[in-house]
Amino acid sequence: MKIKLINYPKDPDRVCAAAALSCYSEKPSSEIFEEISDEKARKAISKIVGMGHLSVIEHANFTFSIEGVSRALTHQLVRHRIASYSQQSQRYVSMNEAQYVIPPSIAAETKAREKYDLLMESIWKSYADLSKIVAKEDARYVLPNACHTNITLTMNARELWHFFTLRCCRRSQWEIRKMAWLMLGEAKKVSPILFEEAGPGCVRGPCPEGEYSCGKPLKKGEVPDDLDQEIQSGKATIDI
Ligand SMILES: Cc1cc2nc3c(=O)[nH]c(=O)nc-3n(C[C@H](O)[C@H](O)[C@H](O)COP(=O)(O)OP(=O)(O)OC[C@H]3O[C@@H](n4cnc5c(N)ncnc54)[C@H](O)[C@@H]3O)c2cc1C
Repeated sequence: MKIKLINYPKDPDRVCAAAALSCYSEKPSSEIFEEISDEKARKAISKIVGMGHLSVIEHANFTFSIEGVSRALTHQLVRHRIASYSQQSQRYVSMNEAQYVIPPSIAAETKAREKYDLLMESIWKSYADLSKIVAKEDARYVLPNACHTNITLTMNARELWHFFTLRCCRRSQWEIRKMAWLMLGEAKKVSPILFEEAGPGCVRGPCPEGEYSCGKPLKKGEVPDDLDQEIQSGKATIDI
């Protein structure tokens, strides 16, 4: 899995803070943008977001290149509707190489891993055989959920906040959760104020999951133990 933030505004924090403050000022956002300090931007964003006036953080868009994840993950990802996606096509791109995600639970069990790899080998052989007879758009029907894919995703900061709340939570599946934490790490590097309190619901208050709570709430700024190393190392590129 590789996550790369490939595009974002020049100064996402100041853009949103200037937009927010322009609502209450005689000055336009262009002037406020030029003169606002980080401290004032932090105060403005924290106040407005705290009041639930979230439209001001829609002014910052972030584009991520997400590489080598499973089609199972992207199926979960595209349920998030306030976003733009461009996904590698299995109609136009040949899936000749057997590239697939191995869930850690399967990787950890020798017998499960053997079974899994054998099945993948057989699937890719069937794909290759079918591709000689029919178009790849039909041959691809035999490919598994585990198949590698690349997807480009653009979300604004408001949708990213929502996405991180749901997908950084331990109730989300390991692969999309890992991706969400890596995305959050990247977003925080370029926009530390906007994403200061982003993450699973528990970093901001009581767990919203009620009886399904994992019982392991995180503190503000804390990252989960199982992802600590990758996130702390500042590398948004990890092998799974
Ligand atoms: C742990 C977990 C388990 C899940 N399990 C399942 C499952 O078993 N089956 C399943 O089908 N899905 C499942 N999902 C997916 C889930 O139901 C949502 O489809 C997904 O998380 C996207 O969330 P969303 O709709 O809030 O967000 P987005 O699509 O990102 O939308 C953001 C927000 O915009 C607003 N919005 C967007 N579209 C509309 C609309 N049409 N009308 C009104 N308001 C709108 C809502 O406020 C919404 O919260 C699961 C998700 C998680 C995190």
